[in-house]
Amino acid sequence: MPRDAQIAPNCYDAEPIPEAARAEIDRLLTTGDLFRYTSEGSPVARLEEAFAAHMGVRYAVAVSSCSQALFLAMKALDLPEGARVLVPAFTFAAVPSAIVHAGGVPVLVEVGEDFRIDLEDFAAKIAGADAVLISHMRGHTSDMDAIMEQAEAHGLPVIEDAAHSLGTRWHDRKIGTIGRIGCFSFQSYKLLNAGEGGVMITDDPDLAARAIIMSGAYEHNWKKHSGLMTRCEAWQNKLPLYNCRMQNLSAAILLPQIGEITRRARDGLRNHDHVAVRLGESRWLKVPPALAPETRAPDSLQFLLAGEWSDDEARAFQAEAKARGVSVSVFGLSTDNARAFWNWQFLGDLPELPKTRAMLVRACDIRLPARLTQPDLEFISEALLEAVAQVKPA
Ligand SMILES: *Cc1c(COP(=O)(O)O)cnc(C)c1O
Repeated sequence: MPRDAQIAPNCYDAEPIPEAARAEIDRLLTTGDLFRYTSEGSPVARLEEAFAAHMGVRYAVAVSSCSQALFLAMKALDLPEGARVLVPAFTFAAVPSAIVHAGGVPVLVEVGEDFRIDLEDFAAKIAGADAVLISHMRGHTSDMDAIMEQAEAHGLPVIEDAAHSLGTRWHDRKIGTIGRIGCFSFQSYKLLNAGEGGVMITDDPDLAARAIIMSGAYEHNWKKHSGLMTRCEAWQNKLPLYNCRMQNLSAAILLPQIGEITRRARDGLRNHDHVAVRLGESRWLKVPPALAPETRAPDSLQFLLAGEWSDDEARAFQAEAKARGVSVSVFGLSTDNARAFWNWQFLGDLPELPKTRAMLVRACDIRLPARLTQPDLEFISEALLEAVAQVKPA
């Protein structure tokens, strides 16, 4: 008897927005003060200050999405038209899209079975590149020591796509603070949920000032950002305005969630590691371990179908898990998946990337939000182990 899919845990709902957001949202509704630059000390300005303080960086620029933050990051760096930007081939379609939007050319780098950048392919492709955009896909951190060393040796700026890595640490550093610029997402599937939204962080005052103006701080609105007067004045009227500002309601929803980051990261890791150990009971499933310097903050779990699996067996495993109430996506087996590089036809001629392809057609993805309880985790683990036992007898 398959377990009862009716009582499976809901892995899709987000956490409730903290009650503390309600008074501020009411105030905004009453006053209609939704534009970030109408008043001094607006919710967006306060969010930028709180986020920069949490991350331990000098500047944060809140925008409409992580994709726009990535776009602004490349524009702030003043990358030339046609700039070659190294980017891992395992990422979300919006990331190479942001490179195209900024006038660049994505150079896709192979990703290994451990979901991290293949350093040999990275080294082979770095000559002739203009910038490096590291996408920490699903919160998996590539070897940032090796990447920073190579990028510095070639004089290349590093942008971190930390959209899904809020709360992750590398050695004693927060992910997103290692490169020149870090970008985060506040879309609903990420650690902080505003429905939509993003932020760009940096310690470089010139990059921050350029991003502020290009995000849409027209005329003298940049005066409502603290500490960047002379830099912003220097760039006045010299940069295009891409108008991708965050609005006050989003910031009001996010502000009381900042205090939740540490708890959500800790609970997410506990949940992840619990299920990872259980899945390790089957020799047909493999959860690649974190790298030694990495402390993860996952809200999902990725595992590989290990050993010999056919596509049909992989699909049968998905169906058996589904019958038990657990949705498993195999990145490379679902039609039009936005994380499969061969679907990024907007890039034109796509390279063949055999390592990344081999990983994607056997890499499984389940959501595992921080709010799940111990019985939820057991339900999910048992469902997956039963499903694999149906397809691959012991
Ligand atoms: C979600 C995500 C993005 C896109 O973020 P948006 O805010 O939706 O633009 C980019 N990269 C990664 C790794 C993501 O997880």
